[in-house]
Amino acid sequence: MNTSLGPGKKSAPTPMRATDPIVVIGGGHAGLEAAHAAFRMGMPVVLLTLHRDSLARLSCNPAIGGIGKSHLVREIDALGGLMARAADAAGIHFRVLNASRGPAVQGPRIQQDLEAYPRAIGSWLEETDITIRQAEAMDLQLRGGRVCGVVTREGEVIAASAVVLTSGTFLGGRLFRGDEVVEGGRAGEAASNGLSAALRRAGLRLERFKTGTPPRILADSIDYHALEVQPGDENPVPLAFENLARRDFRPDLPQVHTHIAHSNPRTHDLVRANLDRSPLYTGKIRSQGPRYCPSFEDKVVRFSDREHHLLHLEPMGLGHPWIYVNGMSTSLPEEVQEQVVHSVPGLEEAKIARYGYAVEYDYVPPTQLSASLEVRSLPGLFLAGQICGTTGYEEAAALGLVAGANAVLAARGAEPWHPSRLQSYLGVMVDDLTVRGVLEPYRMFTSRAEMRLSLAPDTADRRLGDLGHRLGLVSASGQQRMTTRWTRIRQALETLDPDASSKNTPGHRIRRGEDPVTVLEQEAPHLAEWPRADRHSLVALMRYRGYLEIERREAKRLERLEKVRIPGDFAFQQVPGLSHEVRQRLEEVRPARLGQAARIPGVTPAALALLASALGRPEEAAS
Ligand code: FAD
Repeated sequence: MNTSLGPGKKSAPTPMRATDPIVVIGGGHAGLEAAHAAFRMGMPVVLLTLHRDSLARLSCNPAIGGIGKSHLVREIDALGGLMARAADAAGIHFRVLNASRGPAVQGPRIQQDLEAYPRAIGSWLEETDITIRQAEAMDLQLRGGRVCGVVTREGEVIAASAVVLTSGTFLGGRLFRGDEVVEGGRAGEAASNGLSAALRRAGLRLERFKTGTPPRILADSIDYHALEVQPGDENPVPLAFENLARRDFRPDLPQVHTHIAHSNPRTHDLVRANLDRSPLYTGKIRSQGPRYCPSFEDKVVRFSDREHHLLHLEPMGLGHPWIYVNGMSTSLPEEVQEQVVHSVPGLEEAKIARYGYAVEYDYVPPTQLSASLEVRSLPGLFLAGQICGTTGYEEAAALGLVAGANAVLAARGAEPWHPSRLQSYLGVMVDDLTVRGVLEPYRMFTSRAEMRLSLAPDTADRRLGDLGHRLGLVSASGQQRMTTRWTRIRQALETLDPDASSKNTPGHRIRRGEDPVTVLEQEAPHLAEWPRADRHSLVALMRYRGYLEIERREAKRLERLEKVRIPGDFAFQQVPGLSHEVRQRLEEVRPARLGQAARIPGVTPAALALLASALGRPEEAAS
């Protein structure tokens, strides 16, 4: 018998069939990658969204990529996803962040045309037979303890072989500005309340996070003379591998400049004088926001000795009348936002088109999910995006892809895909979320990865291409392109750097600090024909050869821990010698492997040794 999680309206029983579609709730960045991944794997897909015209909306900053985030986007691309190609197609300002540092920590960031981005995604969706429906999911249907359908506000039941929930900031969403508090998922869009109650009734724990957004101002009300111009890079670096393969990538859209402004002591005095009107400081918002992306109020309070804060004025599109004031996320009242904006040189006459606000929403603490992003207590339900405690388009999209693929595997009764943190940033994120949990909205940083050099973004295709093909996410031609690229790079490496110890090879000269461009011009002039990205990949392999070897050895050691499986029904309570706290943590997270157990906060090396012993593998924890 089918049961609905909530009191909802009566509906006909819905038998689960493997041919029932994957139902994706949400048409944001997570939902679209999930739906597209499931489609590529050959499943019928139904996607529900609150507003059909808000698919792939960039709700906050009009940019994709950046440090850590671009690493995820390249991995999404290597797995056949949409985001990188759309970001390249809609890019109006390309800039590599951290350009002076090593390739493993550089981050291409692409300013987007707000309308071109969803248009690009929409054009690929049209090539699929994904059914997109404007409907609010209110409840889930269960059969035999497994999620087998979605109940809409109208009481319709949509049968599902698995459900992917990607509702962003919409569940229990409340928007704050000064004294005003209204229900909403983001500006101009209503919140969704039914599902939170349904999830709670099913025994899931929900908590609250918050995030915020800055004011948008009219582009023609700015005095640009007072601002510093920031042009895009002369040689734009795209995110998608198919564009990196071009010898000379040029963006499709005309390019624009962004500008830099600075706040000053007067701006900060205004903020301080009005802190008692900010919902963050009056106690109206109690939940945690992202520390690394603080509100302007927080910046002024926490960095009280700073006289200036940087503000990036970013166009929201070609011909779009608004400018996004990056760095001034605030929920102060409208009249205070006016004063604060006008105190900034260049913005004295600026007209605010939309005031900043904060949003507080329900999320599901992700330690309740397994590494396939399936809710452990509700098989058949997968979560991705902001609903599981992340922030950012890129994080959402990456999780969407994992959840979508795993939903298909579950529907087919196949083994789940648990992305490994030794193989990808995607794996790092999934592991951090499901094993360590979150205390604040999670965003990706390169520092979260132990194997930063091995996970350099240019190698995402080599690391994930075959896996993507095996899963059915990457076409044969896509896989072939990746194989050809890396075969060529490896062959060149064998010639130019055959042995780490030989002297005077091109590889050795590069490691000694000679300019790689000159070395390659002298020793391998034919490489000038290669795409720039391939030359960079080759040089990185030569330059960091020793470090890569060290990482490879460390990876081997960690892999041994990862290989020790912990049975699903393992009784952590019975392990002799473990403290009550450690047992509780292990029961809560239920790690599937010894390596995961080692990363749970509070699991000490001594506790790990006891666990390894109980699993009959004492030698693994000793290394
Ligand atoms: P979203 O893109 O929010 O999409 C959610 C989708 O779910 C929508 O299509 C909606 O219609 C649908 N939906 C919701 N409930 C239902 C339902 N019951 N039935 C059917 N459909 C439903 N990120 C940053 O990195 N930095 C920031 O500073 C930042 N600030 C932000 C400020 C604001 C005000 C907001 C709203 C977001 C901000 N973000 C920020 C977050 C960024 O927008 C999200 O991380 C990203 O869009 C999340 O993607 P998602 O797919 O999880 O959800």
